[in-house]
Amino acid sequence: MSKIARIQQCLPLRTAALIECPLNRRYLTGFVSSYGSLLVTRDAAILLTDSRYIEAAQAAVTSCAVEEVKTGRLQALCKLYGVKKLWLEGSATLERVRQLRDALPGVYITPGRVLDMQLNQLRMIKSSDEVEKITAAQRIAEAAFAQVLPSIAVGMTEREVALSLDFAMLHGGAERLSFDTIVAAGVNGSKPHAVPGDYALQHGDLITMDFGAVVDGYHSDMTRTVALGEPSAQAREIYDVVLMAQQAALEAIAPGVACKDVDAAAREIIKAAGFGKEFRHGTGHGVGLAVHEEPRLSEKSRDVLRPGMMVTAEPGIYLPGVCGVRIEDLVVVTEEGYVNLTACAKDFSVLF
Ligand code: ZN
Ligand code: ZN
Repeated sequence: MSKIARIQQCLPLRTAALIECPLNRRYLTGFVSSYGSLLVTRDAAILLTDSRYIEAAQAAVTSCAVEEVKTGRLQALCKLYGVKKLWLEGSATLERVRQLRDALPGVYITPGRVLDMQLNQLRMIKSSDEVEKITAAQRIAEAAFAQVLPSIAVGMTEREVALSLDFAMLHGGAERLSFDTIVAAGVNGSKPHAVPGDYALQHGDLITMDFGAVVDGYHSDMTRTVALGEPSAQAREIYDVVLMAQQAALEAIAPGVACKDVDAAAREIIKAAGFGKEFRHGTGHGVGLAVHEEPRLSEKSRDVLRPGMMVTAEPGIYLPGVCGVRIEDLVVVTEEGYVNLTACAKDFSVLF
């Protein structure tokens, strides 16, 4: 069954969905554009886009009809297909809701929770083609890391390390970066999403690097923490705890396992070591057309792992004013368990 057919399946009588989030639109039509509305009724699907995209869309899109958007056309389509209720994605802005209410008198406009759930359910399970793209992105990020690691030295700033990784990923074929690269050294390591600054690396620092590449819209995501010169005994200790926690999370990953249980596997080890309060985020997240997507590996998650899900395992310990450690791999859940797509060592590594 096609992706659009699955959306159609969850539409009640006289209800249609209007999909405008660029990632969802891209996912369902395969067409990349900054503007467009995909109207999905129970028996039709029409991508409305403007003059900038219409020619390319008509040539590329095969999963639905394509029309150039014109004033009144959406209203006419709703009338044609007997649409009385229009579901929007949760990401629709209040302004967009107001515009649609003005443009479609007689149609009840409402965010469709079922629509968001269905879109998430679809996007969570990756096809082999999607897995290939994410793997290609991961290979680019790893190659960049291998290239940059030997150049890291005392006196280099976090920004310089981040720039080197960015350059190597873009030079290595990334169409863009998954997110702003994180390089956090020394005391800055205690901030999980630190912005690389002018801090100059010192002997004994732990350096956390979190980065990823994008290939054909699909993201990779990895984190490694290394030491520059022999670090303190405490830094080594927390590294060992995080590594054990990360391995426990990975070992827990299998189809049928609750995402919250994967989180618990990592969290229990960190708690037992006395650092429970210093692990302040979820253990992992889905990755795909967005770098953070469903499912979440967290205490609150209600999702269950299924083959085709792509998730990270990234526990961390953050000691304010001292240092931090995070280790992140990206895996795909398979029928038997999982395959780790991160082919990059994570034994405690001391650079000299
Ligand atoms: Zn990351
Ligand atoms: Zn991540």
